[in-house]
Amino acid sequence: MSLAHGHHYLAIPGPSVIPDRVQRAMHRASPNIYEGELHEITRSVIPDLKRVARTEAQVALYIGNGHAAWEAALANVTSPGDRVLVLATGRFGHGWSEMARTLGLEPQILDFGEESDVDPARVEEALKADREGRIKAVLSVFVDTSTSVLSDVGAVRQAIDNAGHSALLMCDCIASLGCDRFEMDDWGVDVTVTGCQKGLMTPPGMSFVFFNEKAEAARESAQNVTHYWDWQRRTGVEEYYQYFDGTAPTHHLYGLREALDMIFEEGLEAVWARHRRLAGAIWAAGETWAQEGPMRLNVKDISQRSCAVTSVGIGEGNGDRLRAFMEHEMGVTLGIGLGRDPSSAWFRIGHMGHVNAHMVMGLLGCIETGLSALQIPHGRGALDAAAEALV
Ligand SMILES: *Cc1c(COP(=O)(O)O)cnc(C)c1O
Repeated sequence: MSLAHGHHYLAIPGPSVIPDRVQRAMHRASPNIYEGELHEITRSVIPDLKRVARTEAQVALYIGNGHAAWEAALANVTSPGDRVLVLATGRFGHGWSEMARTLGLEPQILDFGEESDVDPARVEEALKADREGRIKAVLSVFVDTSTSVLSDVGAVRQAIDNAGHSALLMCDCIASLGCDRFEMDDWGVDVTVTGCQKGLMTPPGMSFVFFNEKAEAARESAQNVTHYWDWQRRTGVEEYYQYFDGTAPTHHLYGLREALDMIFEEGLEAVWARHRRLAGAIWAAGETWAQEGPMRLNVKDISQRSCAVTSVGIGEGNGDRLRAFMEHEMGVTLGIGLGRDPSSAWFRIGHMGHVNAHMVMGLLGCIETGLSALQIPHGRGALDAAAEALV
């Protein structure tokens, strides 16, 4: 007999749980795309997206997922033959790098492994070694969703400045915008890319590229910029139709508007604090399970852990077994061991966006049940530890 009835909980790191309010906002007939409410909504989401990214920079809206924003960001500032310095802390850094290669760029990868943050000293060294100034941009991943490593993006800026290098700082903030504190302007990020289906609680299908004046200037000489990805065509436009270079993503805009309302009703600082406290419960449980048996949290240093996603090692085969048990018996879907070898030794918990205490405590209780049912050895008292972390 399965206990997986009632509301299923998709606890993967994107797409995240879609709030009822967002679903209701999207449940409507097609609106007029030539005038009226949809235009107002589109114009109103722009300043609010900037508020979430903490920037005065411009933002271009794209119909596409995070990969689309990756390509758009690179296309607007690079030319074939340019080098990009990629800071990899997991699978997503490598993915962005592969995309750069297909645009005719030469990625230079600094691989920091899968468990910890970038080392700014190595970034500085690599930039100092670039005497001809061939590196056009530094690609950093704020939270690599495959490993749940969170990077100190401000320290990367510092390394670029210390090296006296003119490279743009580009940041993939897809996993955790609206989850982990992110300060585009204060941290000196020139280009930020993000998507709508993680912390922004909207179904996948829209993505955003924020770019400052320095990045805008780089576009002038960029040969990779194409008609559709050109961010200039999507900002400061007269004709509404141009925001999307075609038909607007009508229902996504309604959903996004509602999601942004929810974020600001709670308050962005409060949203970050909620993610931090709920993550603390997950970490406390994880550390307790790790006291006996094969389980361990992937990232040891708390300051390098994301509050949006947690990667957990559990021994070969056990990750897949636990995920199957959770899905079929408990009604909870956990994330796969994306990019890990062997992937069956890992699972990931998505705790981004529309999550609260009872979801997290229920999730932890279900994992505990799975560990018992599957006889995976684990330390005792994880739920006590999680409860203590919440009070
Ligand atoms: C989800 C994610 C992506 C990819 O986004 P898609 O919408 O799946 O294309 C890229 N980078 C990071 C860090 C992500 O979390």
